[in-house]
Amino acid sequence: MTVTATPVPILSDNYAWLLRESGSGATAIVDPADAAPVIAAIEAAGGRLDLILLTHHHADHVAGTDEVRARFGAPVVGAAADAHRLPRLDRAVREGDEVALGAASARVIDTPGHTRGQINFFFPDGDVLLSGDTLFSLGCGRLIEGTAAEMFASLQKLLALPDATLVCCGHEYTESNGRFALSVDPDNAALRARMSEVAAQRAAGRPSVPSTMASERAANPFLRAADPSRFAALRAAKDKF
Ligand code: ZN
Ligand code: FE
Repeated sequence: MTVTATPVPILSDNYAWLLRESGSGATAIVDPADAAPVIAAIEAAGGRLDLILLTHHHADHVAGTDEVRARFGAPVVGAAADAHRLPRLDRAVREGDEVALGAASARVIDTPGHTRGQINFFFPDGDVLLSGDTLFSLGCGRLIEGTAAEMFASLQKLLALPDATLVCCGHEYTESNGRFALSVDPDNAALRARMSEVAAQRAAGRPSVPSTMASERAANPFLRAADPSRFAALRAAKDKF
């Protein structure tokens, strides 16, 4: 029994994620911001939907939620802290809560920084992390509501996850993130190798994600910042890049 994750490209550069638990066939969708392509992806995968997971309240993550729920009747799970500005939640969760998908279970991780109420979900079965707009491949979310210290602490929690963790993030930002990363860490061989891989993936029309935590640990400058003040300087430099 394991959880697999497939990106569903939506809007201009967002990904919803289709999750499947192999034992039962239970299926979840993460951040269904555009109902039509998400419903098509669910139908193509067999037409079953058991769960809708939301990482944060921004429209490019949640806008299609009510339409997808109406179509499949699946319950919506999101952050208790942001229940007032998320679509109607069937279950409000917080740090440490467990969310079942068939025989598998995701742990909820509070990751404030991009937004105050941002949460991530980690499935140990399959090592699948839904990182929303907290951790991107070669980058991290902008500090729209939170502080650099909060985002640094959120990223430290994600750094504790296993190397094999599949980082399933909310946007296809890898190439532009990588250009900034190379500007601050030009001699990083892992970063240069990752950028070659990404160029090939994108040239072939494929998503550059999921990446792995091992790859991000080695190549992502925001995970390599040694302390909150260096992280803050890096984040400010990226905003001006
Ligand atoms: Zn966002
Ligand atoms: Fe977003």
